[in-house]
Amino acid sequence: MRKEKVDVLIIGAGPAGSVSAGIIQKSGLKVMVVEKMRFPRFVIGESLLPRTMEALEDAGLLDKIKSMNFQEKFGAKFVRGDEVCDYNFSDQHTKGWNWTWQVPRADFDLALIEEVQKKGTHVFFESEVIDIKFFPDHSTTIIQSAEGITEIEAKFIIDASGYGRVIPKMFHLDKPSSIKTRKTIFNHFKDELRNEFEEANRITIIVHKPEVWIWVIPFSNGNTSVGFVGNTEFFDKFEGTNKDILKEIIALEPYIARRFENFDIQMETQSIEGWSVTIDKFYGDGFVLVGNVTEFLDPVFSSGVTLAVSSAQRAAHLVVDKLNGREVNWEKEYQKPTEYGVNAFRTYVEGWYDGTLHTIFFAKNQNQEIKNQICSVLAGYVWDESNPFINDHYSKVTNLAMAIKILEKA
Ligand code: FAD
Repeated sequence: MRKEKVDVLIIGAGPAGSVSAGIIQKSGLKVMVVEKMRFPRFVIGESLLPRTMEALEDAGLLDKIKSMNFQEKFGAKFVRGDEVCDYNFSDQHTKGWNWTWQVPRADFDLALIEEVQKKGTHVFFESEVIDIKFFPDHSTTIIQSAEGITEIEAKFIIDASGYGRVIPKMFHLDKPSSIKTRKTIFNHFKDELRNEFEEANRITIIVHKPEVWIWVIPFSNGNTSVGFVGNTEFFDKFEGTNKDILKEIIALEPYIARRFENFDIQMETQSIEGWSVTIDKFYGDGFVLVGNVTEFLDPVFSSGVTLAVSSAQRAAHLVVDKLNGREVNWEKEYQKPTEYGVNAFRTYVEGWYDGTLHTIFFAKNQNQEIKNQICSVLAGYVWDESNPFINDHYSKVTNLAMAIKILEKA
């Protein structure tokens, strides 16, 4: 059996793993990444939010991504029938980045981890974590690859395994989420009519039915990601393969039918069901959970990668502090701030599906200051306590929708 010894072991080479590795390698600590898959690999999560840029910059990875010529993204557009609500990140209330990218994740994730490797971090690809044992001052992790078994001794583990949820599953820590089970069917389409629609530089979210929506995410390679998301009952009404169902439902939605129904798909049509999971504690003796392993809510506001890299950024700095001898209060310095951002998004996700956000987005008269404050949430700046639509999110969103309904009835 091969043996390795490092300061920090990171499980998973998605954006959360790469950002963690980028920050830790800058500190001079010895870090290693283990990744189950061969890269590039497909993963969903293609529309980023501007707050992502801060984490990439902190990890020394921003310049690499700038060089990739991904599609720039300046906002988000919501459509319901003839009603349109456009958010432009440059209007946001919070001072911060006002643009980001829309990325095929296979290329984005590969670019990030290659940059991490270039800067000196060893990455074991096609190597799966199969066991972890924690001791008072270190852990040993067993990884399995085609070459056999390797044992890695580490002072600290960052679990960035995304949907793999390595530590929560191994130690039975997962809890069901309060968010209802939903399903998606999606593919990448050749987007030859794109120019007619003048919207390559933002995500378009279309309300198909009250609880069913569609994402349209154009990439710079000429393809566009299109996916339907809804309750499982909606999809149960259709028959055939995922490909047949996607074709049939695209034809039912006038806003996208002409643009996509007759164009080539770029991969096998994919389906995912039931992605929301949660856990009580994001840390423990000798480890911290980052990215999707903490909690993933829902795709509707593209919060996944932002929450993934922001939690990775915060955790990685704390791991460096801890290994340099500072007493870290994980509850106060990691759990609470991470939950603060997740909980703000939770209000908006739940408000989207119960119609509260539709009332706000498609209101006839919109107050620009309020719109700018909501725009900051959509840009991922969910830690800005000066924003009432963050520091008092539930009341502000609920009361605003109620006031709009009263005014529109009058
Ligand atoms: P991941 O990107 O999942 O990376 C984790 C890595 O860990 C993987 O490469 C995996 O192979 C590896 N791994 C797993 N198990 C092991 C193991 N045992 N050993 C070693 N390695 C392991 N987010 C957005 O920001 N924008 C969007 O538009 C968006 N759309 C979405 C649409 C849908 C339908 C869904 C379900 C999610 C969407 N998301 C979106 C969320 C996004 O997919 C995730 O939040 C994001 O990928 C999380 O990044 P991560 O680094 O935490 O994990």
